[in-house]
Amino acid sequence: MEVEAVAQELATAVHGENWTRLLAILAEVDDLRRAAAVLSWDQQTYMPPGGAQARADQLATLERLAHQRLSQPEVGELLERLAEETTALDPESPPARLLAVARREYQRATKVPPALVEELARVSSLALNVWAEAKAEADFSRFRPHLERLVALQVEKADALGHGGQRYDALLDLFEPGLPTAEVERLFGRLKEGLIPLVQAISQQLDRVSDAVLRQPYPEDQQWAFTLEVLEAMGFDWRRGRQDRSAHPFTTSFAPDDVRITTRFQPNYLGSGLFASIHEGGHALYEQGVPRAWRRTPLAEGASLGIHESQSRLWENVVGRSRPFWQHFFPRLQRRFPDQLGRVDLETFYRAINRVEPSPIRVEADEVTYNLHIFLRFELEQELVAGRLAVADLPEAWNERMQAYLGIRPAHDGEGVLQDVHWASGLFGYFPTYTLGNVLSVQFYQQALEEHPGLPEEIASGQLGGLLAWLRERIHQYGACYEPAELVRRVTGRALDPEPYLSYIRAKYGEIYDL
Ligand code: ZN
Repeated sequence: MEVEAVAQELATAVHGENWTRLLAILAEVDDLRRAAAVLSWDQQTYMPPGGAQARADQLATLERLAHQRLSQPEVGELLERLAEETTALDPESPPARLLAVARREYQRATKVPPALVEELARVSSLALNVWAEAKAEADFSRFRPHLERLVALQVEKADALGHGGQRYDALLDLFEPGLPTAEVERLFGRLKEGLIPLVQAISQQLDRVSDAVLRQPYPEDQQWAFTLEVLEAMGFDWRRGRQDRSAHPFTTSFAPDDVRITTRFQPNYLGSGLFASIHEGGHALYEQGVPRAWRRTPLAEGASLGIHESQSRLWENVVGRSRPFWQHFFPRLQRRFPDQLGRVDLETFYRAINRVEPSPIRVEADEVTYNLHIFLRFELEQELVAGRLAVADLPEAWNERMQAYLGIRPAHDGEGVLQDVHWASGLFGYFPTYTLGNVLSVQFYQQALEEHPGLPEEIASGQLGGLLAWLRERIHQYGACYEPAELVRRVTGRALDPEPYLSYIRAKYGEIYDL
């Protein structure tokens, strides 16, 4: 089906007063949320520090208004009437899916009592500040009472949302609709069998690969210019987006025609800004590829965080850390940095950007060790919300599991249990989506390769448009229309499968580390 053709169904398939009224309310909810996204983007890019209190008030007001608008009884009534009016619709058609997604969001919004929503926002906004200080001082005891309160509220939230006995299911479902915890456990179990021995084997020969060529002074203006060149080649549409700098790179969409990414540079390390831009560029291409016709509906976004991460990881790792990609881009990079890279050969560069090293820090992790950081977090947060692990025992549990999975122990809690912002922000159930993205990035790319065996040659000549067109046609144009499992089945003809990912990792790193 042609890109955007599928989107037209929304406008033509359903008529009537109830439909028009529901779309109008959903559009207002979307406007309020996207306006909050603009304020949040500004907060992380250009806002002076003094703006923090005013911005927190403004964001809280917009979020409260969006929540009120979505959870008003009229929405429930409209959804009921429309359920009766639309029985003839194909349940997989965009209008039927829009109703299903709107129903899911309405139910979520009405299940959690407003007092709990407010308390969650208040406690996490306070906890964020304390977490940042506790992290800087590597002092878990300061953060501990806040985390205890956050876990208690997450438990309340999960129970309010409802679950079949496994509390974590309710939290995971917020980020990965339709995916049960038990399935993540099976997937992670299989990945562990494959990855842990590989990390152990590589750990025996870490000095086979050096990334010294990346660790030289790289002037920031040239780094910036090169990220623009790569994003341009990827197909990022500058009339419908822009790149800025922030402390932590992220992507946010105000509309399919206005998608923002951020990156950050290190003056003495090339890898940071370069791969942050490619990663966020992958997220942005997804958002720019969502049908314009679905703007101001809940379908105008990615299918889930895991599917979103599959797009960023596909560009960052499967493409951006591959030989074909650098056959084209390395000579261009050398021209920008003749002093640093003029005498470096492509193979040395390729190995440098794929160097593996167990490190305590997740965001610095390579492709092979990254998922081990996720297994650890997934297990610990499950145990916390199930009441099997006390917050007081968390740092030791963290360090023990880090030792078991990566063979290292954090020197202090600042680079251990305090390193990530997620729990402090109230995000429990989010971490598994990173690994889902890694696994899916390879499953999707292999499907693209099966259908277009010439892709590596295209990429080696700098033509990335064929890959983007495939992603647009098979994934992007469906936005949030399908639940992740259904989308994966439609794209690859199979369920989520860890085997292509494991084979890819074994082949790539077996060669680099001569295993
Ligand atoms: Zn990402």
